[in-house]
Amino acid sequence: MKYVDEFRDGDLAANLAAKISAEARPDRSYHLMEFCGGHTHAIFRYGVQDLMPDNVKFVHGPGCPVCVLPVRRLDDAVELAERYDVILCSYGDMMRVPGTKQRSLIRAKADGADIRMVYSTIDALKIARDNPDRQVVFFGIGFETTTPPTAVAIHQAQAEGLENFTVFCNHVLTPSAIGHILESPEVRDLGTVKIDGFLGPSHVSSVIGSEPYEFFAEEFAKPVVIAGFEPLDVMLSVLMLIRQINEGRAEVGNEYTRVVTREGNLKAQKLVSEIFELRQSFEWRGLGEVPYSALRIRDAYAAFDAEKRFEISEKQSREVKSCECPAILRGVKKPTDCKLFGTVCTPDNPMGSCMVSSEGACAAYWSYGRFRGPAGADKEVAA
Ligand code: SF4
Repeated sequence: MKYVDEFRDGDLAANLAAKISAEARPDRSYHLMEFCGGHTHAIFRYGVQDLMPDNVKFVHGPGCPVCVLPVRRLDDAVELAERYDVILCSYGDMMRVPGTKQRSLIRAKADGADIRMVYSTIDALKIARDNPDRQVVFFGIGFETTTPPTAVAIHQAQAEGLENFTVFCNHVLTPSAIGHILESPEVRDLGTVKIDGFLGPSHVSSVIGSEPYEFFAEEFAKPVVIAGFEPLDVMLSVLMLIRQINEGRAEVGNEYTRVVTREGNLKAQKLVSEIFELRQSFEWRGLGEVPYSALRIRDAYAAFDAEKRFEISEKQSREVKSCECPAILRGVKKPTDCKLFGTVCTPDNPMGSCMVSSEGACAAYWSYGRFRGPAGADKEVAA
């Protein structure tokens, strides 16, 4: 398949692995945070860590949109779904994420809530058209990649005069999260999380471009390389990062040139900024409150804002006890550090978001089984 098979070529991978080994200096280590869950899964699925020399380590970041949504916002979505007049539309991977007391959307649905799994905002709009007597709420989550389709839906709903359609907006922003990680005590003061460079988001960057990363590459002196999601994309990006680190450069590189430009998708950006504005602060699972890291619906489109149309109660939300998702999302722990991993918590019985989502780190460890290794633990887990 074009743009897929050639990025999974074994001979090219062996060449790249040899180059990485030759250029990684033996007198230092390279800790590279892959921001996206898509990268984490590529690394585990294709055994990329095993092709790296021992001093090149991957640090898993918070770039899984389902994983970073705090429990409180999920509880709010369940509350909305349980209203008799509401149909809640959600992307499928949110359905099984456990909220407080392990209450999830799928459990609420089993108890009678009208929750519809949708593949796109177009599906949600159709449900709204087909059910004029019900309130249809779209549960909007995700990074900059999924924000434009939500903006299109609001735009379209306004154009059609759809009065029963709203969005529960939880869209978050990548650059603020990366900046927040670099300012965290674990990175800045304690040194418990070492980060020498970033494999930057690919799909997100197709929308926002590579320019937004330039500020913190310079400010924090950390190189960033926008990396595609195929194994050769990841390996080439590692080589590009190693070269920058060896030469003392901290710039934004772009490996994913077949999709990403410096300016990004200007049409999508214009639509997003017409519909949304920055929130002053937003809670992320694992990162806590992050200033200017999420979007809200502008007052001009308040009629489509579920937070304005419905009263949502204050609540005491709680993570599942012993779930280490928050620490994993900060790069402080690995899934195998969690005592529930593979025992109580599996993809069939997830205790935390990182095991549910197809982009979650726990799901990547479990699905590809590399944590088992010949001696019971692989290089990466033991590192
Ligand atoms: S294994 Fe399960 S309980 Fe442990 S951190 Fe991952 S999702 Fe949470």
